[in-house]
Amino acid sequence: MSKPVTVEILVVGNEILIGDIQDTNTNWICKLINGRGGYVARATMLRDIPEEISAATRAAIERGVDVLITSGGLGPTADDLTVAAVAEGAGLELRLNEKARQMVKDSYDDFFARGIMAQGGLNPAREKMAWLPVGASPLHNPVGTAPGVLFRVGKTSIICLPGVPSELKGIITTSLEPFLRDTLGDGGSLTKAVTVRCNDESIMEPVLSRVVPRHPRVYIKSLARTLGETPELDITLTVTGGEEDERAHLVAAAYRELREGLTEIGIANWDKV
Ligand code: ATP
Repeated sequence: MSKPVTVEILVVGNEILIGDIQDTNTNWICKLINGRGGYVARATMLRDIPEEISAATRAAIERGVDVLITSGGLGPTADDLTVAAVAEGAGLELRLNEKARQMVKDSYDDFFARGIMAQGGLNPAREKMAWLPVGASPLHNPVGTAPGVLFRVGKTSIICLPGVPSELKGIITTSLEPFLRDTLGDGGSLTKAVTVRCNDESIMEPVLSRVVPRHPRVYIKSLARTLGETPELDITLTVTGGEEDERAHLVAAAYRELREGLTEIGIANWDKV
């Protein structure tokens, strides 16, 4: 079975680590990537400190991750420094990208024409958003003004996106879609959820520890609930990537063994199968 595409997420923003803003972008990206068959290997949150962003980028490239997605720090102000820091970590210089410059100008002109902003056109702060790593492609932002950025270093594709959730989602679902299709293909994921009549994970543990290593491509997870609330808990079996038939086959095989094992120890009542 083909290995899933690996993805890492780097969320940047003092506001998140101060606790002012809850990071929802990671969760949204994780759902999207898993749903399309990719494998999110790691998510990191960092402050707006260029050296740390550069080091994290370098480390991700050295780990050989297929895709690194960053969120936040793409705007016109001086504390929006993600693109420069990521470029530094990737060993690339920044250049004024003409296509990006035009995108930024068009966005501001459009916001001005719609009466949303007092001025159209460019100024140095706005133009800053068009300085991209050499060889990078700008990704049209259908919601805001900062274009996303897509470039490649070795085997790693790097995508820098604004932190504003509607902008991040807007770019991913429109301008980034061709990249996602090429990279993740039509790979998907399959999850089977079952509910067992047992409220004590420790009783199931011997069965889980026997079955889990025998099915390395299946993510088997028991989801504990608040103790005493219900005499049941859920178990999910998930396969991401590969072909549809393979996913169904892998989930079915793991499920069969799990069910046999749990039946042997007297956990025989199953719902939602
Ligand atoms: P802009 O172009 O608007 O300046 P930006 O890329 O610079 O975008 P940030 O300044 O990092 O984005 O964040 C803008 C706002 O987006 C934050 O104040 C916060 O409300 C929201 N935001 C940023 N990061 C996240 C996140 N990871 N999850 C949820 N919301 C976020």
